[in-house]
Amino acid sequence: MENITVGTVSPLPPATGPHEGRLDRVRARLHQAGLDYCFVGPSSDLHYLTGLSLHASERLALLVVPRDGPASLVVPAFEAAGLGGLPPGVCLVPWQESEEPAQRVGALLPGATDGEPATIAVGDQLWSVFLLRLQAVLPQATFSTAAAVLAPERIVKDSGEIAALTEAAACADDAFTDIRQLRFAGQSEHQVAEAIAGLLRRRGLLVEWGPIVASGPNGASPHHSAGDRIIAEGDLVVLDYGGRLNGYHADMTRTVAVGHEPRDEMRVVYDLVYQAQETGVQAARPGMTGEDLDTVVREYLASEGYGEFFTHRLGHGIGLDGHEAPYLVQGGQTPLGPGMAFSIEPGLYLPGRFGVRIEDIVVLLPTGAQRLNRAPRELVVVE
Ligand code: ZN
Ligand code: ZN
Ligand code: ZN
Repeated sequence: MENITVGTVSPLPPATGPHEGRLDRVRARLHQAGLDYCFVGPSSDLHYLTGLSLHASERLALLVVPRDGPASLVVPAFEAAGLGGLPPGVCLVPWQESEEPAQRVGALLPGATDGEPATIAVGDQLWSVFLLRLQAVLPQATFSTAAAVLAPERIVKDSGEIAALTEAAACADDAFTDIRQLRFAGQSEHQVAEAIAGLLRRRGLLVEWGPIVASGPNGASPHHSAGDRIIAEGDLVVLDYGGRLNGYHADMTRTVAVGHEPRDEMRVVYDLVYQAQETGVQAARPGMTGEDLDTVVREYLASEGYGEFFTHRLGHGIGLDGHEAPYLVQGGQTPLGPGMAFSIEPGLYLPGRFGVRIEDIVVLLPTGAQRLNRAPRELVVVE
């Protein structure tokens, strides 16, 4: 991660529009689930509900959403002024440096600090140090994961979110037109990764993780990032990169050949991955689970004799987080539905030799998946 400024607020798109409706839907889900409150710390959940992008730090910041009534944002007093617009219906509760902020939170829950029971859904990204302090001031409260009330909302993207994902994907696609012109042979993976990051930044993407540049045998490791290996003619190079635009992530992978068309098995494997990715995109339908879609692609690659080399899941949801629900993996039981956005990124990883991955982001429509990435998937030969 870069651009971390502890305890301050980063610039954001204005907090207008969808946030009030999102808070209302969380309240409705609290009712349904028989829960009293939802607690959300600085996280993508907070951004989703309020448009605010607070950074987690040692000072407590917490959104308290009661089942009924207005939400409150508990924040350090000196940060309150920098927040800009709060969504309508969110009260600001600033705390001073000399105060114990967990007490301020407790005061928002009538009776709970005196030992009355309360059921509280806590955001998955709230640091445990804060949860422990809150448990100390709310001794009779029962805590559970807020994913139960937040994930079903976040997993279905609204039109504004799909537009943001589409724009982010278009930036990443556009960068590929320059990436394929880069010099690879004789450069280190690091050098190529730096060049890719620069091309992404030039298109306005916030690059928070180094692009993956996995050349030759390094390509067999799905999460190899970029190292000192000098790229050579004849290598396949897996390029997995992205970034954020207006809060929403891009994430795409292309595998390129250096110098010339690859020799036999590399070509065979490339074409299998290409077909596997196409198979996954064509097969996606609402009502399937993430596991079902993973299985379709897994069975295809197994039928071609390469099943054992597909060692990574098929894909992951994407939105305000680079990886979020739904997960397309064995065991992923969430049914896929219209409005969900996820990657389809099969790969074959041949230990000690090479790897190939092709990744696009898709949005699921009632009729099937629509690709957001448009960069060519056919094998590109680079210099
Ligand atoms: Zn992965
Ligand atoms: Zn990726
Ligand atoms: Zn991905």
